[in-house]
Amino acid sequence: MTMQRDHQIYDSIDKEVILSRYVFDETVQYELDDSLDWVSALYDELEENTDREEEGYKKGNISVRLQLKRKSGKPFGDHLLVKGSIEAQYTAGCVRCLTLTPESVDTEFQCAFINSRFEKDPEFEELDDIFTENEEYDLYFYEKGKIEIAEMVHEYLFMNINHLPLHDPNCLGLCQECGQDLNKGSCIHHPAQ
Ligand SMILES: [Zn+2]
Ligand SMILES: [Zn+2]
Repeated sequence: MTMQRDHQIYDSIDKEVILSRYVFDETVQYELDDSLDWVSALYDELEENTDREEEGYKKGNISVRLQLKRKSGKPFGDHLLVKGSIEAQYTAGCVRCLTLTPESVDTEFQCAFINSRFEKDPEFEELDDIFTENEEYDLYFYEKGKIEIAEMVHEYLFMNINHLPLHDPNCLGLCQECGQDLNKGSCIHHPAQ
């Protein structure tokens, strides 16, 4: 994705923004990281099952880029086009043995927020995305003029992470009976063969 570089880039945006505060056809860019509270909370959520006290744990990073453009005109009326990307390096616990496992996510997205009154419109009811400005945008709705930025980023992030991190594809896991890490040795429930 190409980002324009000739405009100011903001390092902060509220969790939800008011559509009417944006100027039509003007692109506004953001480069966010964990110095922003809600982005930092996203990072924490990535590691909610990670034991950060464990030896060898190192904090990773997250960055979110957004490009917003308010548009008007048929058929969507007042709407907002969003292009974005999320990159994160973080530490997950192996789903089988809990060993700290480096994970990353790198995803790009584009979506359009249109007025929620279209949600009831049979024409839009079945739609997941729309085609505008020669590009495809995932369809989101805004209510009362408010755009839920953080919720949308949250959705794209967790749609794209590895939900079954393994420290090794052949991880043997823990014994269900006694908790022995079977990668490190056998137990009476799993005698060595
Ligand atoms: Zn494992
Ligand atoms: Zn056992």
